[in-house]
Amino acid sequence: TLPALPYAHEALEPHFDTLTMQIHHGKHHQAYVDNLNKAVAGTPNEGKSLDELVKAAGSISPAVRNNGGGFYNHNLFWTVMSPNGGGLPTGDLLAAIERDLGSFDEFKTAFAKAGVTQFGSGWAWLCVKDGKLEVCGTPNQDNTLMPGVGCGGTPILGMDVWEHAYYLHYQNRRPDYIEAFFNVINWDEVARRYAEAK
Ligand code: MN
Repeated sequence: TLPALPYAHEALEPHFDTLTMQIHHGKHHQAYVDNLNKAVAGTPNEGKSLDELVKAAGSISPAVRNNGGGFYNHNLFWTVMSPNGGGLPTGDLLAAIERDLGSFDEFKTAFAKAGVTQFGSGWAWLCVKDGKLEVCGTPNQDNTLMPGVGCGGTPILGMDVWEHAYYLHYQNRRPDYIEAFFNVINWDEVARRYAEAK
C-alpha cells in the first residue's frame, strides 16, 4: 500500500512545488504500488518482501523490476527529504563521506553529476557497499540493490531525476532541481540509514 507522505504536500515549498508533490506521490507512486500488486497477484512472488522482490527483480519480470523498483525508490525518496532539511550531515556520516569520497563538496559534485548525466529517466544514489560509501546513477526505476546495474550496495540517499519529479516547476532545468534537492535533504534520516547499513 502507498505510504503516507511524512509531511504535507506543500511542506517542501519553494524547492518542490505543491502540485508536483501531489501528482508525484498521489499518482506516480500510487501507480507503482498498483502495478506491482497486479504483477505479483496469484504468483509465488506475492508473499515476498519488497526487499526480496527488488533484489531478485531482474530475474522475475520487467513489471516487477519497474514497479517494485518504483515502489521501493519512492518509499525511500520521501523519507530522505524534510522541510527542516538541507545543510550538512554530521558525525559518523560526515566522517564516512570525507573518508570515502574526499569531502562533502566532492560528494555533492559527484552526486549532482550522477543526476545531471543520467540520460533519460533514473536516479542518483549514495549507497553503502562493504562498509564504504559510493555515488552512482541507475536508469529507469532500477536501484543499487538490483544485481548488474553497475553499482551496488544499500541505498541510503536517492534522488529522483525523472522529468515527473521536476518538470512542472523547473521545466528542462534539471541542474536547478538538483541544487534545490540539497536544500531539503533529511540528513538525520540518511545518517540513520547509514548506521543500519554500514
Ligand atoms: Mn518519481
